[in-house]
Amino acid sequence: MTAHYTRPRNQNDADPLLISYLDAIVALTCQREAHGLTASLIDSLCQHVRAERFRLLAILNHNQVDATDADDRQETFVRDWLEPLSVPVPIGEDEDLLACARTKNRISRTMPDTGRRRLILPIFNVNDITAMLAIEGMHEVSGEDEVLARLIQIFSNQLYLLSRNELDGLTGLHNRQAFDARIKQLVLSAGQQERRVHSSQAAPRNCLALFDIDHFKTVNDKYGHLYGDEVLVQFSRLMSHAFRHQDMMFRYGGEEFAVVLVGITSEAAVSVLESFRRTLETYIFPQIGRKTVSIGVADIAAGESVDTVINRADKALYYVKHHGRNRVCCYEMLVKEGKLAPVQVATGDIELF
Ligand code: GH3
Ligand code: MG
Ligand code: MG
Repeated sequence: MTAHYTRPRNQNDADPLLISYLDAIVALTCQREAHGLTASLIDSLCQHVRAERFRLLAILNHNQVDATDADDRQETFVRDWLEPLSVPVPIGEDEDLLACARTKNRISRTMPDTGRRRLILPIFNVNDITAMLAIEGMHEVSGEDEVLARLIQIFSNQLYLLSRNELDGLTGLHNRQAFDARIKQLVLSAGQQERRVHSSQAAPRNCLALFDIDHFKTVNDKYGHLYGDEVLVQFSRLMSHAFRHQDMMFRYGGEEFAVVLVGITSEAAVSVLESFRRTLETYIFPQIGRKTVSIGVADIAAGESVDTVINRADKALYYVKHHGRNRVCCYEMLVKEGKLAPVQVATGDIELF
């Protein structure tokens, strides 16, 4: 059998546009965690695309938005993907974003006033559109829309794979690997923020809460491991209802969980955590009855190692375990009250730069 080789058109002229995007593709495929992936995408766009602005917009579910009136419930809300503290905004007024979200197709339009283009690309998680990339004020480059659409396809696939690796198989919460990456990144950004913010403005703080279910071993001993697993699944569901979409929830270990609460100090977070503790205390787990949880919380401060942050929250949790369980304790308050000796800052492993 003879194989016929048809030479593609323009084969001698390697497409310079495609060549210029090769390093963007390589950069995306080199990323090992989801957060780094989005940063890498934006970096590549800034390097390659001549445009005024790039926006990565996460599309929110209605339960992620406090939509109280009926009009709001009809709306589609988006939030700046890279800014977890940003306020969700309705996209009702923006026809292009709305068209992209509804049709799941890319939308391209030339703005009559500037002659520049606007390109909106959908980002998928399997079949669901979960976000959009909006490129504003683009210069016309022939074939670039197609290349960008393919780049976003690679980004979506990578994001799916990395996100799956970062999830705990039993509870669906983020796993320990994702936890380590997130804490590291928050300590880093706390340091950068502190250097940027003038002394008169207080930098928003984040904090870390560690949860450990009280006397969990008795569930396994009395009812068996499967019932124990079911308690863990339901515990994680209660957590998902109690905290905001921007707070990341993790299964930290067996019956230990963690939440990173963003934009709030540990002292201020105590009331939120206390409310979760009370919810759990009154919840009836089918067949098993009530369980309680001990919670320790500490600030994620700039200039400290990840180990120090975890150590402080853990110290507060340990204090609860030795003072009756079923309580919330804040490391900073315990130190102020003289109930805990301060944890020394371990400078040897600071991952600041
Ligand atoms: P404490 O109040 O001091 O935290 O008591 P505890 O019994 O919760 O603590 P301990 O650390 O002694 O026991 C934790 C138990 O969690 C031991 C282990 O069998 C169980 N465990 C860990 N991972 C899983 C899991 O994935 N599924 C189930 N069913 N049990 C698990
Ligand atoms: Mg434990
Ligand atoms: Mg326990």
